[in-house]
Amino acid sequence: MRILVTGGAGFIGSAVVRHLIENTEHEVINLDKLTYAGNLETLREVSDNVRYVFEHVDICDSQELNRVFQQHQPDAVMHLAAESHVDRSIDGPAEFMHTNIIGTYTLLEAARAYWGQLSESRKQQFRFHHISTDEVYGDLPHPDEDVDAKQVLFTETTAYEPSSPYSASKASSDHLVRAWHRTYGLPVVVTNCSNNYGPYHFPEKLIPHVILNALAGKSLPIYGKGDQIRDWLYVEDHARALCLVLEKGSNGETYNIGGHNELQNIDVVKLICTILDTLRPKDTKYSEQIIHVADRPGHDRRYAIDASKIKNDLGWMPKETFATGLHKTVQWYLDNEQWWQNVLNGSYRLERIGEQI
Ligand code: NAD
Repeated sequence: MRILVTGGAGFIGSAVVRHLIENTEHEVINLDKLTYAGNLETLREVSDNVRYVFEHVDICDSQELNRVFQQHQPDAVMHLAAESHVDRSIDGPAEFMHTNIIGTYTLLEAARAYWGQLSESRKQQFRFHHISTDEVYGDLPHPDEDVDAKQVLFTETTAYEPSSPYSASKASSDHLVRAWHRTYGLPVVVTNCSNNYGPYHFPEKLIPHVILNALAGKSLPIYGKGDQIRDWLYVEDHARALCLVLEKGSNGETYNIGGHNELQNIDVVKLICTILDTLRPKDTKYSEQIIHVADRPGHDRRYAIDASKIKNDLGWMPKETFATGLHKTVQWYLDNEQWWQNVLNGSYRLERIGEQI
């Protein structure tokens, strides 16, 4: 297949591009605007490959999207381009509405116009794969409030109840994709995934933020009590799941993707400290750098995914446990200082975002 990947210079998109080039015969057109979160250094390993091409395009630019579809004639779209950081959506929601809602709408229209011209057989095989988040479901009961809480998980039929400007904009985009399927017959698949972590993660996000602050000898800020629960998935496991859904998922279906790793944020931070104590020992314990700061406004308390549908229907299971994936991740940041030093030489310097309301 020739696959148009949007947001391929971001954290998850680049893992998808690397996976497609290194483990399949597919061709990849990476379409990315290169916002603060896009970074072509993340694709160094694959950028010379003859099956890879980069298009510096904004998904809100319909003319350019039409050109890309006509020029490259893709068999499928994997749509990952988005504004993705909850804290930034609190400070500046406009960009999230623009890219995540209007951008998805513009991409859907370009895809629909192109799809309408295809031969009947190519039309049927075409897929628009929309990549979304579990945050669209809102939050789940927390074990603090309800002893049976752990039995309640997000399934593909959980009602949407987004809490932040980010998750509300992603929920809107999910609805648009399903409407384009139902109304126009565009062949789509949607995936909703839990929190990802792994190499090349932009350092505003919890895990790389903590690793880099720890190494710099700075304080490790925990929002509120740190008892918020997230379900963590190693990014390469997510990339494998996405490619499987694209190839084998049924038209019109939604698949939840998760790592079966529910952890409180404070425990994630303590685990990172323990790994660093072993891999980069110093006189004091890294956990002594932990401090508690004011919580994020509207902070969801718990997310957890029921990933049984993708397991039963498509045979996907994560390969990494949280222990193995986190160890690999910390080691990667220790081994790839040049990558994150270059990122920190840009506009973001590990400061807190999203506190002001
Ligand atoms: P990211 O912020 O690391 O990357 C986003 C990419 O999209 C960047 O390369 C950026 O340059 C590009 N982009 C932004 N606006 C664009 C525009 N207007 N036109 C073209 N390109 C644009 O995000 P990520 O963490 O890799 O997330 C990718 C997708 O997966 C998002 O849709 C996100 O909602 C979803 N998701 C993320 C997580 C997670 O834990 N990170 C979990 C589940 C789902």
